[in-house]
Amino acid sequence: MAVETAETIETLRAARQQMSGSVGLVPTMGALHEGHLALVQQARSENDHVIATIFVNPTQFNDAADFAAYPHDLAHDLELFERGGVDLVFAPMPDVMYPSGYQTYVTVEQMTQPLEGAHRPGHFRGVTTVVAKLFNLTQPHRAYFGQKDAQQVAVIQRMVDDMNFPLAVVVCPTVREPDGLAMSSRNRNLTRAQRQAAPVLYQALMAAQAAYQRGERSSKILRRLMRDVLAQEPLADVDYVSVADARSLEELTQLTDQPVLVSLAVRIGQTRLIDNVLLPAQSYA
Ligand code: AMP
Repeated sequence: MAVETAETIETLRAARQQMSGSVGLVPTMGALHEGHLALVQQARSENDHVIATIFVNPTQFNDAADFAAYPHDLAHDLELFERGGVDLVFAPMPDVMYPSGYQTYVTVEQMTQPLEGAHRPGHFRGVTTVVAKLFNLTQPHRAYFGQKDAQQVAVIQRMVDDMNFPLAVVVCPTVREPDGLAMSSRNRNLTRAQRQAAPVLYQALMAAQAAYQRGERSSKILRRLMRDVLAQEPLADVDYVSVADARSLEELTQLTDQPVLVSLAVRIGQTRLIDNVLLPAQSYA
């Protein structure tokens, strides 16, 4: 039997009303991989019901070409969600989420300024707006997000606290390919040569982590180490490398014993990839 799907607000609300007990929400943009399925698995283990959403949210794309190139595979996604034990998939068209006349947005102010926010103007306004709408529509007890998108997690947690959403944000570890590349729907757009180059992001992060573990506490040196690794890969074009406070996301000069977010964004051809690690390695933002 195929997984239950809803494409309209009315069918989603009706299906949600049938659910008793706890609900876990897993928001995605589809083109699923094992990273998404790990979120589903955790949601499955902690809730009576799991709602997953598939929506390539136009308001979070600041680049029309990136939006146009974003991969879609709805039939396969539904199959994977069904196998993962999802109870209900909400997969609306853009005009269901943003009907004509739409004009309300949610903005988290300071934390959206650096890192991804600086390179993708308007991105987080789109993310927080759609996630707030999904929270209102699905009324989850817990919502599951990946550490892969570290700033997104921090921004959403801030929004949940500030807006008093009655739910817990659950952060799941980054799922990687055997060579360290963080799984991402965008990896599908890499050519074979680009795919071979892409683990350089992880190698750069590991260089910073190893130096930190040896006692290095200069953020300047950690950033330089990452840039040196990335410079060895001709296909890698660096957007930023960052060593920031894991809570405020402010760039650091000298590291203390507070958790640190080491993150980077790199273009490989037309595809922009991001990745991060938290230091010390097991700390969570
Ligand atoms: P996306 O479909 O890329 O918007 O991602 C949907 C959710 O899956 C977000 O919470 C992401 O952080 C999470 N996610 C994406 N890739 C991974 C990964 N490799 N490991 C863990 N979570 C991930």
